[in-house]
Amino acid sequence: MLIDAHVHLDKYGDLLDRALEEIKQNRIFTIATAMDVPSYLDLQKIGERSDLVLPTFGIHPRRAAEYADRLPEIGRYIESSPAIGEIGLDFHWVKDMSTYSAQRKVLEYFIAAAREQKKFLNLHTKAGEKEILGLLEKYDVQRAIIHWYSGPMDILRAMIEFGCYFTIGVEVLYSDYIKEIAKAISDHLLLTETDNPGALRWLKKNDEVGMPTVIKDVVNAVAALRNSTPDQIESLVQTNFSRLIANDPGLRAIESQLFRRIVD
Ligand SMILES: [Zn+2]
Repeated sequence: MLIDAHVHLDKYGDLLDRALEEIKQNRIFTIATAMDVPSYLDLQKIGERSDLVLPTFGIHPRRAAEYADRLPEIGRYIESSPAIGEIGLDFHWVKDMSTYSAQRKVLEYFIAAAREQKKFLNLHTKAGEKEILGLLEKYDVQRAIIHWYSGPMDILRAMIEFGCYFTIGVEVLYSDYIKEIAKAISDHLLLTETDNPGALRWLKKNDEVGMPTVIKDVVNAVAALRNSTPDQIESLVQTNFSRLIANDPGLRAIESQLFRRIVD
């Protein structure tokens, strides 16, 4: 089964029905990450339409400043979410440095909650890689997906050592540096994503909407880079994701439903 571990399904607009149909036809298990509260509420509704979609609550670093004084409200949504994301730090694309302390405050609140509630994280780490690793160490939260890692190689190695999972996404189709990263990740920590629907548009500076089957292009590219086959990468990623959510009380239903063949 294909796994797309980081998607913004609420951003499809008129193409949502088509996207859900593609997910169903191709059996793509999809982690639908929220950017903020309204986005999570939309995703919960979308999640009711497909048992292949897992909506998760997070506040994107771009939105953190609006939520830094609303932590109890955030806490209620975290309680209701089976996992956490998208959260993180962005000190590269977010230029307004006055938001950085809010980013840190919101992120640390999420990580502390993840530790307490034993939920896995979906993390955006742009130019905050080292600091995020420090927080994961501080709270001893090992079940973390590092989404679209593009930071320094030495921090990548330290995160691998710590046991973080990594999603390789569409940039592997275009960037030599991301290809290096895709080769460096240990077998047991490799996951895949698309960051649909906006990632291709952002990378190619055009108006292309990333549809769910783009995940196949990612799997094919990763397979070629790792001297493997698409089928082998698909099954490796499924095994890894299954291990990540094993023993997760909030995800047991999904695990047994979707991954029975592996569990047996
Ligand atoms: Zn994202």
